[in-house]
Amino acid sequence: MSQNNQGKIDEVLDKAAEKLEIWLLMAYAAPVIAGRPVIVKRRLPSMAEADGLTSLNPRGVPVITLSPRIDRVNDREFMRLYLHELAHAKLHAPHFQRSTTDTERPGSSDYEAIGMLEREADNQAAKWLELAEAKRDKREPYKQSVLYALINHFS
Ligand SMILES: [Zn+2]
Repeated sequence: MSQNNQGKIDEVLDKAAEKLEIWLLMAYAAPVIAGRPVIVKRRLPSMAEADGLTSLNPRGVPVITLSPRIDRVNDREFMRLYLHELAHAKLHAPHFQRSTTDTERPGSSDYEAIGMLEREADNQAAKWLELAEAKRDKREPYKQSVLYALINHFS
Protein backbone atom coordinates (compact mmCIF):
# COMPACT_ATOMS: atom_id res chain seq x y z
CA MET A 1 0.00 0.00 0.00
CA SER A 2 1.29 3.41 -0.86
CA GLN A 3 2.09 5.99 1.78
CA ASN A 4 -0.57 8.21 0.28
CA ASN A 5 -3.33 5.59 0.58
CA GLN A 6 -2.35 4.84 4.15
CA GLY A 7 -2.63 8.54 4.92
CA LYS A 8 -6.14 8.66 3.45
CA ILE A 9 -7.21 5.55 5.35
CA ASP A 10 -5.88 7.00 8.60
CA GLU A 11 -7.78 10.20 7.93
CA VAL A 12 -11.07 8.33 7.32
CA LEU A 13 -10.55 6.25 10.49
CA ASP A 14 -9.71 9.34 12.53
CA LYS A 15 -12.89 11.07 11.35
CA ALA A 16 -15.02 7.99 12.15
CA ALA A 17 -13.46 7.70 15.61
CA GLU A 18 -14.00 11.40 16.27
CA LYS A 19 -17.66 11.21 15.23
CA LEU A 20 -18.19 8.20 17.49
CA GLU A 21 -16.51 9.99 20.39
CA ILE A 22 -18.66 13.10 19.93
CA TRP A 23 -21.99 11.25 19.85
CA LEU A 24 -21.05 9.05 22.82
CA LEU A 25 -19.91 12.13 24.74
CA MET A 26 -23.16 13.93 23.91
CA ALA A 27 -25.19 11.00 25.28
CA TYR A 28 -23.02 10.87 28.40
CA ALA A 29 -23.03 14.65 28.90
CA ALA A 30 -26.78 15.22 28.43
CA PRO A 31 -27.99 14.13 31.92
CA VAL A 32 -24.90 15.66 33.53
CA ILE A 33 -25.54 19.08 31.97
CA ALA A 34 -29.36 19.01 32.23
CA GLY A 35 -29.32 17.66 35.79
CA ARG A 36 -31.97 15.03 34.99
CA PRO A 37 -32.18 11.83 32.95
CA VAL A 38 -32.05 12.58 29.20
CA ILE A 39 -31.80 10.18 26.28
CA VAL A 40 -29.94 11.30 23.12
CA LYS A 41 -30.97 9.72 19.82
CA ARG A 42 -29.18 10.13 16.49
CA ARG A 43 -32.00 9.72 13.97
CA LEU A 44 -34.24 11.82 11.74
CA PRO A 45 -36.81 13.54 13.98
CA SER A 46 -40.48 12.78 13.38
CA MET A 47 -40.99 16.47 12.66
CA ALA A 48 -40.24 17.08 8.98
CA GLU A 49 -37.25 19.31 8.19
CA ALA A 50 -36.25 19.61 11.87
CA ASP A 51 -32.60 19.24 12.88
CA GLY A 52 -33.64 18.41 16.39
CA LEU A 53 -36.71 17.63 18.46
CA THR A 54 -37.26 17.11 22.18
CA SER A 55 -40.06 14.99 23.58
CA LEU A 56 -41.07 13.10 26.70
CA ASN A 57 -41.18 9.35 26.17
CA PRO A 58 -43.90 7.05 27.56
CA ARG A 59 -41.76 6.37 30.66
CA GLY A 60 -41.49 10.10 31.37
CA VAL A 61 -37.87 10.49 30.27
CA PRO A 62 -36.93 13.47 28.08
CA VAL A 63 -35.53 12.40 24.69
CA ILE A 64 -33.61 14.65 22.35
CA THR A 65 -33.60 13.45 18.78
CA LEU A 66 -30.89 14.98 16.61
CA SER A 67 -30.71 14.51 12.87
CA PRO A 68 -27.56 12.88 11.45
CA ARG A 69 -27.63 15.83 9.01
CA ILE A 70 -26.11 18.03 11.73
CA ASP A 71 -22.80 16.20 11.29
CA ARG A 72 -22.36 18.49 8.28
CA VAL A 73 -22.88 21.89 9.95
CA ASN A 74 -19.94 23.80 11.42
CA ASP A 75 -18.69 22.83 14.88
CA ARG A 76 -20.14 25.77 16.78
CA GLU A 77 -23.57 25.46 15.17
CA PHE A 78 -23.51 21.71 15.86
CA MET A 79 -22.94 22.32 19.55
CA ARG A 80 -25.55 25.09 19.60
CA LEU A 81 -28.17 22.75 18.11
CA TYR A 82 -27.35 20.07 20.68
CA LEU A 83 -27.46 22.49 23.60
CA HIS A 84 -30.71 24.04 22.34
CA GLU A 85 -32.44 20.64 22.44
CA LEU A 86 -30.79 19.89 25.78
CA ALA A 87 -32.22 23.14 27.13
CA HIS A 88 -35.70 21.97 26.09
CA ALA A 89 -34.99 18.66 27.88
CA LYS A 90 -34.03 20.51 31.05
CA LEU A 91 -36.59 23.31 31.05
CA HIS A 92 -39.61 22.14 29.09
CA ALA A 93 -39.79 18.38 28.47
CA PRO A 94 -40.81 17.55 32.07
CA HIS A 95 -44.04 19.50 31.41
CA PHE A 96 -44.71 17.88 28.01
CA GLN A 97 -47.29 15.16 27.55
CA ARG A 98 -45.73 11.69 27.35
CA SER A 99 -45.65 10.41 23.78
CA THR A 100 -44.00 8.05 21.31
CA THR A 101 -42.70 11.01 19.27
CA ASP A 102 -39.10 9.77 19.55
CA THR A 103 -39.94 6.47 17.82
CA GLU A 104 -42.28 7.80 15.14
CA ARG A 105 -41.49 7.79 11.44
CA PRO A 106 -39.40 10.74 10.20
CA GLY A 107 -41.64 13.44 8.77
CA SER A 108 -44.79 11.94 10.31
CA SER A 109 -45.61 14.78 12.67
CA ASP A 110 -45.84 18.51 12.40
CA TYR A 111 -45.41 20.14 15.77
CA GLU A 112 -45.38 23.85 16.04
CA ALA A 113 -42.50 25.52 17.78
CA ILE A 114 -43.68 27.88 20.53
CA GLY A 115 -41.85 31.20 20.37
CA MET A 116 -41.40 31.69 24.10
CA LEU A 117 -40.01 28.19 24.63
CA GLU A 118 -37.66 28.64 21.67
CA ARG A 119 -36.29 31.86 23.13
CA GLU A 120 -35.77 30.21 26.53
CA ALA A 121 -33.95 27.31 24.89
CA ASP A 122 -31.82 29.68 22.80
CA ASN A 123 -30.89 31.68 25.92
CA GLN A 124 -29.97 28.59 27.96
CA ALA A 125 -27.95 27.17 25.05
CA ALA A 126 -26.09 30.47 24.65
CA LYS A 127 -25.26 30.53 28.39
CA TRP A 128 -23.93 26.96 28.31
CA LEU A 129 -21.92 27.67 25.18
CA GLU A 130 -20.43 30.84 26.67
CA LEU A 131 -19.43 28.95 29.81
CA ALA A 132 -17.91 26.11 27.79
CA GLU A 133 -15.99 28.44 25.50
CA ALA A 134 -14.51 30.23 28.51
CA LYS A 135 -13.46 26.97 30.17
CA ARG A 136 -12.58 24.68 27.28
CA ASP A 137 -9.07 23.46 26.55
CA LYS A 138 -8.28 25.32 23.34
CA ARG A 139 -5.61 22.78 22.36
CA GLU A 140 -8.36 20.17 21.96
CA PRO A 141 -10.78 19.97 19.00
CA TYR A 142 -13.72 22.34 19.49
CA LYS A 143 -16.62 19.91 19.96
CA GLN A 144 -14.83 17.56 22.37
CA SER A 145 -13.43 20.44 24.39
CA VAL A 146 -16.85 22.08 24.75
CA LEU A 147 -18.39 18.80 25.92
CA TYR A 148 -15.58 18.05 28.36
CA ALA A 149 -15.75 21.60 29.77
CA LEU A 150 -19.49 21.22 30.43
CA ILE A 151 -19.14 17.70 31.87
CA ASN A 152 -16.39 18.88 34.20
CA HIS A 153 -18.34 21.94 35.24
CA PHE A 154 -21.60 20.14 35.99
CA SER A 155 -20.25 16.96 37.61
ZN1 LIG B 1 -36.42 24.48 19.99
